[in-house]
Amino acid sequence: MAQSSGGVTALSGVTALGGVTALRGTLVNCLDDPFLTDADKAFTVERDGVVVCRDGKIEAVGPASDLLAGVPLDALSDYSGCLIAPGFIDTHVHYVQTGMVASYGTQLLDWLDRYAFPAELEFADAAHAAAMAKVFCEELLRNGTTTALVFCAVYPQSVDALFAEAERHGMRIIAGKVLMDRNAPQKLRDTAQRGYDESKALIARWHGRGRSLYAITPRFAGSSTPAQLDAAGTLWREHPDVLVQTHIAENRREVEWTAELFPQAKNYLDIYDQHGLIGRRAVLAHGTETWAYAWPGRTIWFRPGAPSRESGEVRGGELPRLDQHHPVAGVVAGDGLHAVRALLRRLDELHALGPQVVVGLPAVVHVQAEAGHAALVERAIHRGHHLGRVRRARDGQVDL
Ligand SMILES: [Zn+2]
Repeated sequence: MAQSSGGVTALSGVTALGGVTALRGTLVNCLDDPFLTDADKAFTVERDGVVVCRDGKIEAVGPASDLLAGVPLDALSDYSGCLIAPGFIDTHVHYVQTGMVASYGTQLLDWLDRYAFPAELEFADAAHAAAMAKVFCEELLRNGTTTALVFCAVYPQSVDALFAEAERHGMRIIAGKVLMDRNAPQKLRDTAQRGYDESKALIARWHGRGRSLYAITPRFAGSSTPAQLDAAGTLWREHPDVLVQTHIAENRREVEWTAELFPQAKNYLDIYDQHGLIGRRAVLAHGTETWAYAWPGRTIWFRPGAPSRESGEVRGGELPRLDQHHPVAGVVAGDGLHAVRALLRRLDELHALGPQVVVGLPAVVHVQAEAGHAALVERAIHRGHHLGRVRRARDGQVDL
């Protein structure tokens, strides 16, 4: 069955095996990055369109006037008046925090102690993990997300539960066991060797099975010893086709703390780079502040929202790529705002939005809402610049 709620329906439920099914409605597709190109180039819209599926796979997409004649009437689901879009892809989410949605934001390090770690301890119980994986996958589908890059708990059984549930739904899940051997409660820690061994076994069990893919998952620099980061880098060299996911530069306090833990590193990104964890299949979550690029007070840094003339200290080629970011997570957790457009103009690699389950939001896993939030943040920043300019004009400092 299709799963529907809040105006979003995941299409996975209508691709019944063994025959033709078809959907009619307004087809929307995204061909390019709307932050970088005009909306009319980034999107296509077919006001009265049809998607034809055969044996569970899309066979044809086009105007109803072209395709409708070939579709048996009883195979057609009519969603006229609704939008039909490809499944959303969530690039960063923690399924083990599903039960603590809307735990309102303190700063990151306090928030981990108070909310996230206690919730994750429960995933040592395989039955609890299975129950939460079911809720999580159903929530993803209810919100139109069919692919997600997911952090699990430190326990391998939490990963098994998620992949097994995703397999039942035919979802593309990319996930990994969190690696964490310091600065966390004892029961949530592994060791460099155990983390390596358990991740390796999970790769063998799940990577490439059906639609499942594995991601080596050090939680963040501060929760892994250099030995564990080394082991993760070794594992990636041995399995270069898996992904790496971690966090970077969530807020200033965390960045300053991380700088103390890794005094030899040139900057936050350099920590991961030194351990062989940066590459095209690495996804770095947050990057809320560009303290990622340099330790505060030591060398250069710039704020993504600042006009380009204020970031003149940044030299070409020094900016690494950050693969995704969470405007709302930043706001609610008190970690700062993202200026999506300004950041994208500087970084020409792929970016994505992720809803960052939990951080104070009632919508659990809502990529579509996140895109809207990104637009609102962008507008607020733009308006802030504009108001500043009005005030400076009023004070005779600039011409409007
Ligand atoms: Zn996260």
